[in-house]
Amino acid sequence: MTVEPISVNTAKEVVTYRHFINGAYVDPLNGEWFDSIDPYRNEVWARIPRGSAADIDNAVAAAKCAMTEGPWATMTPSVRGKLMRRLGDLVAENAERLAKIEVRDNGKLMSEMLGQLRYHPEWWYYFAGLADKIEGSVIPVDKPDHFAFTDHEPVGVVGALTAWNSPLLFIAFKCAPAFAAGCAVVIKPSEFTSASTLEFAALTRDAGIPDGMFNVVAGHGAEAGSALVDHPDVAKITFTGSDTTGAMVYSQAAKTMKRVSLELGGKSPNIIFADANLDAAAAGAVSGIFAATGQTCIAGSRLLVQNSIKEEMTERLVEMAKTAKIGDPMSPDTNIGPVTTAPQYQKILDYIDIAKSEGARLLAGGGPSDAGPQFVQPTIFTDVDNAMRIAQEEVFGPVLSIIGFDDEDEAVRIGNDVIYGLAAGVWTQNIGRAHRMAKALKAGTVWVNTYRAVSYLMPFGGMKHSGLGRENGLDAIKEYLEVKSVWINTSDDAPGNPFVMR
Ligand code: NAD
Repeated sequence: MTVEPISVNTAKEVVTYRHFINGAYVDPLNGEWFDSIDPYRNEVWARIPRGSAADIDNAVAAAKCAMTEGPWATMTPSVRGKLMRRLGDLVAENAERLAKIEVRDNGKLMSEMLGQLRYHPEWWYYFAGLADKIEGSVIPVDKPDHFAFTDHEPVGVVGALTAWNSPLLFIAFKCAPAFAAGCAVVIKPSEFTSASTLEFAALTRDAGIPDGMFNVVAGHGAEAGSALVDHPDVAKITFTGSDTTGAMVYSQAAKTMKRVSLELGGKSPNIIFADANLDAAAAGAVSGIFAATGQTCIAGSRLLVQNSIKEEMTERLVEMAKTAKIGDPMSPDTNIGPVTTAPQYQKILDYIDIAKSEGARLLAGGGPSDAGPQFVQPTIFTDVDNAMRIAQEEVFGPVLSIIGFDDEDEAVRIGNDVIYGLAAGVWTQNIGRAHRMAKALKAGTVWVNTYRAVSYLMPFGGMKHSGLGRENGLDAIKEYLEVKSVWINTSDDAPGNPFVMR
């Protein structure tokens, strides 16, 4: 098996990456590269090609050709599924190597990234199984002498734009259903964490996925990303990122009438009732906000705690925050790693200042950690009013806002009182309450007595400003298909009045 261009390690030499277009690694046409920073060591570890509209043109042309004229177009869906399974096997074989690249690039914990990479193949296996089960229907139409059926066609070339926090997971979320539907992909990963996506590309080739089906053009959002959104031969954009950029991409894509799905940010309520198992709830609250250094779209950043247990729960959480081990993301003992990017680090510190100035009461953390240049202490604010900016805006860092409530109605009201609707957590041992809350909360995912559970089998996506469309599960494949309705008149008779609708 050949994997190029590098094998990652923690050595000092800087690795130079290239785009992956039409099954080969190629230099950027403008001859420009930019640096990728290891956020733990705060040093340049890789050079990333700076993609331009010209690179995007080449990648989209390769993708268009691959899905319409290349072997993928004539392969049966069952054979496509076999290749996708092989890709899953290769990801499994390379899980540790890919996880190390992710850690080097985004600073997330090895324990988390290795778990993600070991799980990643399931997406390829699941969607490989769906590739030959995309079936139309015969519709018993109410018109005599007509046979009518539906067929599903691949939507066309897919442009994928991904965020920096879990690049390879986003490939699984987007490309596995796209391939199963028959679509070729051009992906523009985040400029902060492009390396793992470029490494992954070699595995698609080694698995026998035909040239042009998977293309990576690295670069900046306003350059390569924007060119992908504008490209007339891209039929669909699948985007993971912030709601601000998502809204911009959505309106830009409208000019060429693209299909768009958006996986955006959140300000998720994690709601603890007094009748909950408090040990489990405390662990769930910590997992909701401090895992992945809070850099997850589903972070339970607003902790709603029933007032009768608020003090007790707060004490537990403060203790857990103060004893969390901050440091080297490769170490198995570490709980909290660095913040991935310098702008994000500054943004978190700014939000901590905003919360202080709004009158939220600081109980833990509240500033940089001395573990390294880009670390933030796990931070807890209480006495937060849901109208404060710290309760309304996504921080994307280890900053928890605790808000008290008295009863179920108030919990629902506060929980839903944000523009976002990505996820919510509920902790209760009352089964009726669990169901009532699951129904009342406006969120794409509601977890009861658990948090951050994600599966290839379960639809994932947001309501309100958290996005459009769903990834994972059976619903995901619909995002990459067009439905065609076919009517066949089985009668030999001439139609009646041709000026009247039949
Ligand atoms: P971002 O919006 O800054 O960037 C996302 C992607 O869009 C990047 O690849 C970027 O280069 C590209 N981009 C930027 N400007 C563009 C433009 N003008 N045209 C085309 N592409 C452009 O987001 P980020 O900072 O990388 O990621 C953090 C955000 O992502 C958070 O808001 C987080 O909640 C969200 N997120 C959502 C999910 C989800 O599944 N809902 C998952 C992870 C992250």
